[in-house]
Amino acid sequence: MKYLGAHVSAAGGPDQAVLRAVEIGADAFALFTKNQRQWKAKPLTDEAIEAFRSACCEHGFEPGQILPHDSYLINLGHPEAEGLDKSRAAFLDEFQRCEQLGLTLLNFHPGSHLKKISERECLTRIADSINHVLAETRGVTAVIENTAGQGTNLGWRFEHLAEIIDQVDDKSRVGVCIDTCHAFAAGYDLRSPEACTATLDELGKVVGFEYLRGMHLNDAKSAYASRVDRHHSLGQGNIGLDAFTTIMRDPRIDGIPLVLETIEPEIWAEEIAWLRAQQH
Ligand SMILES: [Zn+2]
Ligand SMILES: [Zn+2]
Repeated sequence: MKYLGAHVSAAGGPDQAVLRAVEIGADAFALFTKNQRQWKAKPLTDEAIEAFRSACCEHGFEPGQILPHDSYLINLGHPEAEGLDKSRAAFLDEFQRCEQLGLTLLNFHPGSHLKKISERECLTRIADSINHVLAETRGVTAVIENTAGQGTNLGWRFEHLAEIIDQVDDKSRVGVCIDTCHAFAAGYDLRSPEACTATLDELGKVVGFEYLRGMHLNDAKSAYASRVDRHHSLGQGNIGLDAFTTIMRDPRIDGIPLVLETIEPEIWAEEIAWLRAQQH
């Protein structure tokens, strides 16, 4: 069983994201629980929380089918104390919003060293940030997303993800989300069924499928190994459709949300229907 959806807008309140997911035939979705480009957000009201919880219940969405994404401003590996503190406070707020909404996963980009500290030091800071927030919250798993490796972003090698997980105290509340566009841009080939399976095998070997808590299904405008993050609609980019058929038929990827972040929301319903049809 594979859960399929898209990163839908939460404009008008988080309950509206549920309705937008239903409209495109999704049984999974991603959302931002606050404006992703601002540090501060008003707390969720009791009404907004209740509306979200009842919409999920009414439309049959369990927490494991929902993959909220945190703000783009947060850098959990920030080299400077002030930036790190600000990021950790905002990350804690994101976790608490998930707790309030009854959500159990939070997807985030690991962090950037900004050329001021070593990769290793940055990865340790990221793990410390995760430990810090896990100690103060309950029930929400920290889901680290692989990146394209643009700029000084870490997390583009599966080894980076493994190194962070290795330093997290509570292994039951840490996982990964693999974005196909980011993996491809970072140098993991996906262009044929064989290449895609080999990349997934590598993920299994380096990180382990027990940590895979979600995937972002995106084709790539960016070139292979370019370290540039540009998404495209399925089949229209440099990855091509074979990868997505292969993913849909791989039983190691069952039971987790598979979320489109492709660039044409108008065709999400079609993309979801096409993905579902690949399973047979
Ligand atoms: Zn992301
Ligand atoms: Zn992504």
